[in-house]
Amino acid sequence: MKPIQTYSVVPKLPKNLKPLWSLAYNFWFAWNDRIVDLFSRIDARLWRESGGNPVAFINMLPQEMLVDLSNDELFLDRMTETVESLSAYLGSTASAVEFKGRDTSQPVIAYFSFEFGITPCLPIYSGGLGILAGDHLKSASDLNLPLVGVGLCYTQGYFRQYLTPDAWQNERYPVYDFEQMPLTEVMNEAGEPLKFLLDLRGQKVVVRIWKAAVGRVNLYLMDTNITENPPEVRELTTRLYGGDLEMRLKQEVLLGIGGMMALDVLGLSPTVIHMNEGHSAFAGLERIRRFMQDRDISFEAASELTASSCVFTTHTPVPAGNDRFPPDLMQRYFEGYARDMGIAFKVFLALGREDPRDDAESFCMTVLALRLSRFNNGVSKLHGEVSRKMWQRVWPQFPLQDVPIGAITNGVHHPSWVAADMAVLYDRFLGANWREDPDCDRVWRNADAIPDSELWRTHERLRERLVDFVRMRLRAELTERGARYKEIEAADDVLDPGALTIGFARRFATYKRANLLLQDKSRLLKLISRTERPIQFIFAGKAHPKDNEGKRLIQELVQLCRTPKCRNKMVFLTDYDMDVAEYMVQGCDVWLNTPRVPLEACGTSGMKAMANGVLHCSTLDGWWAEAYESNNSLGWAIGMGEYYDDLEHQDFVESQTLYNLLENDLVPEFYERGHGNLPRTWIRRMKKALLKLGPVFNGHRMVEEYAKVAYRPAYSNYNDLAADNFAKAKALAQWRMEIMTCWHGVEIRNVVSREPGQVHVGEAIEVDCEVNLNGLTAEDVTVEIYSGGVDHEGVFTDRRTKSMEPRDTTDDGWRRFSGMFKPSSPGRYGFNVRVLPSHANLLDSHSLGLIRWA
Ligand SMILES: *Cc1c(COP(=O)(O)O)cnc(C)c1O
Repeated sequence: MKPIQTYSVVPKLPKNLKPLWSLAYNFWFAWNDRIVDLFSRIDARLWRESGGNPVAFINMLPQEMLVDLSNDELFLDRMTETVESLSAYLGSTASAVEFKGRDTSQPVIAYFSFEFGITPCLPIYSGGLGILAGDHLKSASDLNLPLVGVGLCYTQGYFRQYLTPDAWQNERYPVYDFEQMPLTEVMNEAGEPLKFLLDLRGQKVVVRIWKAAVGRVNLYLMDTNITENPPEVRELTTRLYGGDLEMRLKQEVLLGIGGMMALDVLGLSPTVIHMNEGHSAFAGLERIRRFMQDRDISFEAASELTASSCVFTTHTPVPAGNDRFPPDLMQRYFEGYARDMGIAFKVFLALGREDPRDDAESFCMTVLALRLSRFNNGVSKLHGEVSRKMWQRVWPQFPLQDVPIGAITNGVHHPSWVAADMAVLYDRFLGANWREDPDCDRVWRNADAIPDSELWRTHERLRERLVDFVRMRLRAELTERGARYKEIEAADDVLDPGALTIGFARRFATYKRANLLLQDKSRLLKLISRTERPIQFIFAGKAHPKDNEGKRLIQELVQLCRTPKCRNKMVFLTDYDMDVAEYMVQGCDVWLNTPRVPLEACGTSGMKAMANGVLHCSTLDGWWAEAYESNNSLGWAIGMGEYYDDLEHQDFVESQTLYNLLENDLVPEFYERGHGNLPRTWIRRMKKALLKLGPVFNGHRMVEEYAKVAYRPAYSNYNDLAADNFAKAKALAQWRMEIMTCWHGVEIRNVVSREPGQVHVGEAIEVDCEVNLNGLTAEDVTVEIYSGGVDHEGVFTDRRTKSMEPRDTTDDGWRRFSGMFKPSSPGRYGFNVRVLPSHANLLDSHSLGLIRWA
């Protein structure tokens, strides 16, 4: 039997404790230790049981305790102080990034993401992508950036991991109660839940919206799990990365198209859309459709406007990470949509195809996003390069270096990831600015001033805390599994709080090679069996529920960890999440990462570790390829970032390198103790890493970079193109049509170079040519000298471009152009001449896909 109606029964909070709600309903607690202290000191056990969720926590407090608290002057004082600091934070208007002439009642940027990792108690993330999105919001909040987040609220989140007795990963899906989370349902003026209707293949989907306040930034999460919807529709927001391909498509429709509708019903009209990963690319599409419908402009003008003000970040070079949908599936959901937009379905499909003429090609969300945005970036320098190669086919005819995908290296939000104990040390020696201005060299230079002994003692305390945490988790796990008393007791002997501790935690995707360390088991066993100078390992990570290969890796690893020889030296922690990550990145001595180059786009867990003085040891992939210094002075490299054809051979070579590093470098250095039992060389390395890497690999630097190179330009483009009833957008679209018609006749001839005999570095070489403009004017094009070094196969290895000036016209109507270039280094050098379309409002001359080479 089911009840007719259900209620959430909450405690009666005494009046003078009401301000606690304002602390509970802002995720600022995720990076503010004072708020966490305030709650946890009320009742540490209940706080733990609530999973660090202040709303659930308050609702759990017994009425007597509330009455007690309401009479506790000391507590009330602390509460008032904390509430005031929140109000001060929220009230501050100072911003590092200005948007000229903006409407201050409106956000400038909407940040769309499939997942967000803000705190462990809002489990709507799976891994790095989500945590990055969470850190982006937090840094945007600290920088007072006018940004809102848009995402989905999954009732079952990502799965929780547990292991069967034979170490096979199983999944649990607890159902979360949003009423018990720091989320508020958005209401309309009449005080009823705000809802809107999304059309999904003719089915009307009712969507409601939850608001998460993340400091000064609002995150809006869509939810279809309501009684008005039939079961199959409610399922849409049940699981992150659950379900089949069609479910993924529907969820992405909800995120992109639904997200734009949500902003609309919320009365928000951001000018810049940031699509974080291809999942949200339909947002760009919906933006085009809305411009056409609401502003009555053409598809072409709407596309220009959209692309000029959209930002897209791609996050993975692994093919499976880039969603592709078969054309017939797309047809079922988008045929009517394309008709609404007034474009043929084939043209529509071309937006998501690398080769628009290939009817068999599936529809790729990454390609769609690349086409709908003029600001595309990868998430590390190396990943930028890899992405240009990977998506070159979207811009055929263009040399690799010209593929318009840049790089903004990820960063982590320091105040969230730095341990409270370490933060106290930073407050004292770096000053409070390490929280607000972490991308300042001057701040981190003071790391040198931290006394060795204090830094080391703090670090050791964090290692002890980690070991304690591991034992507690193991005990809980064993108890749950019904292990015998003796076994449970033995959990207390696991690990040595004073031993060199290596951490490895991440998703068990195959390319991350969690088993690299297991390549030579006898060597590994020898390494961990030493009683003098001991070394120990802590592992954690989930495999995707459908990834049996990943599950097999976990099984192999866990079975090894459970053998008597390894039991106390190697531990696998189940159910890796932000909570486990926090203990690990703060308490290990070394953070190990072993991705197969170049498949790790960036990697961020190592940055979290680094911010706590944990040294990094990794293959030269992602961020480490740009952070690493060649003499190992900041941390260690496994190999030199080589690519291999024979992967088995690569695993062998790199695992041997890793064992050598551990045996010959890490262990001796860690145990080389001087006066006061301090490892001086090790400590020097910790400080140097903080000093050099601290100012760079943080969220503030990252968000400011997005603001400077993408948000601000996109914002002014939008204003420019939209002014005077979209005059420039319309003109640009018109111009584009003309170019498209005339371009086939554009040609180059008579390229001549006048060089001063033998060419010396820095000497100018003059170049002339004649161009048939075929009805276009010299202002419609850029004629460029494209020059650079040439390799033995005659291919450009680098390039510079120099535009040429229009001169007179030949008798047969061709326009002469001339210019010059200077070879910048000795060696084989070459040049070519090309013509590209050019227009003051055209951000990227490549976006038309037009080019003519001599
Ligand atoms: C930081 C983090 C990640 C991402 O780590 P990578 O090094 O990028 O693999 C994944 N999961 C959790 C829980 C994290 O905190």
